[in-house]
Amino acid sequence: MAHWERKEIVLRTSAVGQAMTAPVFWCHGRNPRPLAYIQANVHGAELQGNAAILALFDLLEKEPPRGSLILVPRVNPVAANQQVGDYVSGVFDFASGFNFNRGYINLTGPSRGSSACYVDVDAFAAVHRDATLAEIRDGFREALKAALSAVRDSVGPWGMEARLEFALAIQELAIEADVVLDLHTGDRAPRYVYAPEGATAATRAFGIPFVLEVPPRFAGALDEASFVPWNDLAEAFRRLNRTDVRRFVDGFTLELGSMNAFSLAQGVEDAKRIASALRYYGVLDGEPAEPAHRIIFCGVGDYKSVYAPVGGLVDAALTPGTPVRKGDLLARMVDPSRCSIPPRMQDAVVEVRAPEDGVVLLFHAFSSISKGARLLSMMTNTHPL
Ligand SMILES: [Zn+2]
Repeated sequence: MAHWERKEIVLRTSAVGQAMTAPVFWCHGRNPRPLAYIQANVHGAELQGNAAILALFDLLEKEPPRGSLILVPRVNPVAANQQVGDYVSGVFDFASGFNFNRGYINLTGPSRGSSACYVDVDAFAAVHRDATLAEIRDGFREALKAALSAVRDSVGPWGMEARLEFALAIQELAIEADVVLDLHTGDRAPRYVYAPEGATAATRAFGIPFVLEVPPRFAGALDEASFVPWNDLAEAFRRLNRTDVRRFVDGFTLELGSMNAFSLAQGVEDAKRIASALRYYGVLDGEPAEPAHRIIFCGVGDYKSVYAPVGGLVDAALTPGTPVRKGDLLARMVDPSRCSIPPRMQDAVVEVRAPEDGVVLLFHAFSSISKGARLLSMMTNTHPL
């Protein structure tokens, strides 16, 4: 039997003094490690990860884990409540305009305040040059945690900005983990995953058909905040000609279908995909499943958006997840004001065609967009994984 613990974290406190919290479910398995951190719904309208976590609850009851897990559904009560009528506008913080998934702290670069707020990987590697791998892994995690608490302390009497408070509440949990999964969705999209460069076997274990490879550069997202410091550490050791120090922590962003979609039945399937990857990492017993179909990937630099050449109504010519050839019809941009007399439907239409071969992965959530808005995003320069 797994042993469960529940607590709350505070992401923000409202103007009338109410703490806006998220529930944290800590599943203690047979060992404290490997430890997985899995959160869902940091973007307010990206709901499906909650179904995946609920299904994981049941899976973990049937199959007590070898390692342990921290599961945080509905991690962002701020975004979940950013409603205008029936619509949830949950990517950008109404209070600041910032993307909720870009405010995390870089713990191996001088992103804020004093040098105590980050770890100098070259100095750490020099001191630990002859240490064991376990000493390096544990020592580096302690150093990252010390940097994170220095960030919290550095605020002093000036007060903590809401954006920083939000990031710290999440990062103080995620920093403990050996693998971090941030569950999102696309706008209108199939399932796809942002995976760190080089994590091929782990990525295959998810069995998700489309993969975007993330280079080890920090740009503020949780997956990067989780794996980039450990990548930096491995590189620092390589500079000292020590090559046995691999990246000990991976971080993934899973895109579980479309915004606003929510299905408990699909959540059971999503939980199976996640469980397969957790077997790869040794959090669960057993071997990961072989992918049931071909997996294709491209670098995030080859994941490109097509911007609407004109404003209008979008008639998508294909379903997201469809391979295309250069010149194939992607969408029709439709504007009745382009019609003259006598008015004809075809005059309202401007066709948008594929600039390159690739896979259309995502359509903008809305069907009425202005010129220059993101119409769709497509993978180019794709390869089998
Ligand atoms: Zn998202």
